[in-house]
Amino acid sequence: MTLAELRDVAAKAELPSYAAEQIADWLYNKKISSIEEMTNLSAAKRAWLGKHYEIGRSLPTSSAASADGTLKYTFSAAGSCIETVVIPSKDRSTLCVSSQVGCKMSCVFCMTGRQGFTANLSAADIINQLLSVPESDSLTNIVFMGMGEPFDNTNAVMNALDILTGTYGLGWSPKRITVSTIGARGLKRFLSESSCHLAVSLHAANSNDRYSLVPYEKAVPIRQVIALINQYDFRHQRRVSFEYIVFKGVNDSPQQAIELATMLRNVPCRINLICYHPIPDSHLEGAELHKIEQFRDILSRRGLVCTIRTSRGEDIAAACGMLSSAKKQSA
Ligand code: SF4
Repeated sequence: MTLAELRDVAAKAELPSYAAEQIADWLYNKKISSIEEMTNLSAAKRAWLGKHYEIGRSLPTSSAASADGTLKYTFSAAGSCIETVVIPSKDRSTLCVSSQVGCKMSCVFCMTGRQGFTANLSAADIINQLLSVPESDSLTNIVFMGMGEPFDNTNAVMNALDILTGTYGLGWSPKRITVSTIGARGLKRFLSESSCHLAVSLHAANSNDRYSLVPYEKAVPIRQVIALINQYDFRHQRRVSFEYIVFKGVNDSPQQAIELATMLRNVPCRINLICYHPIPDSHLEGAELHKIEQFRDILSRRGLVCTIRTSRGEDIAAACGMLSSAKKQSA
């Protein structure tokens, strides 16, 4: 719950309004897991709260560790199963959280898209992923790049960001949080109300090419998304990056690199070229490394900041949606 929501709880419990800050301190600073532990509230008030609310903490239901150090967890949420990944690297430890169970967006390269949509996660389900992974205390960054489209669940995601970054909450710097989207409609609210970083799942500059990979292109074309992004300041603290999975023979040609460079020529951004992590029964294959490097060089020569990212955790099915799909099939 955000502080505003905790104030409502305090009012309903007939507690003084400062009790909202006290409850927030128990939840987000002391990180308790039962209402009984709120010892600066009377026993009667704790009993009342316990009757009407729960803390909502739950531990992972399974885990898998990759040879490269990536750790993948599943949690029970909204009557189903979601995934959370911890990605350690030299100088950071990044948590990748899910925002929905499944997804409506049907991107053709994505295992979560293939599952279809089951439910939205609550802010509590999102925050629980951060608080309940065993590595919780050593995390340095959070990315909303797990299952689901964050801005198809904008209220819960914005509340989770409020709790994550609020001084009453977990006190994370927005500079350590990145939300990834295909450009869904809640993006405008995020750009206006938050200062967290943005990552856009792009995958093609040309509308027809993108539509074949990201069907949502038809609802909100990428040009519209870029026009919206251009209304906000990404030249200083806040960053925008574009994620581009490079598929063999689909979006890896020099011409497509030139189109991309042209589209983003006035956007202060970084482009991440991603080696594809194949999913079962898909016609898509990852582009060869020399093609990806050629693509990068075309972008770099045109002044764009561009990096190549390899897949992590291939041996534990760390591509979005793969572990929970396997669990569903074996259930
Ligand atoms: S890539 Fe993201 S938006 Fe697209 S189907 Fe997968 S989870 Fe949904």
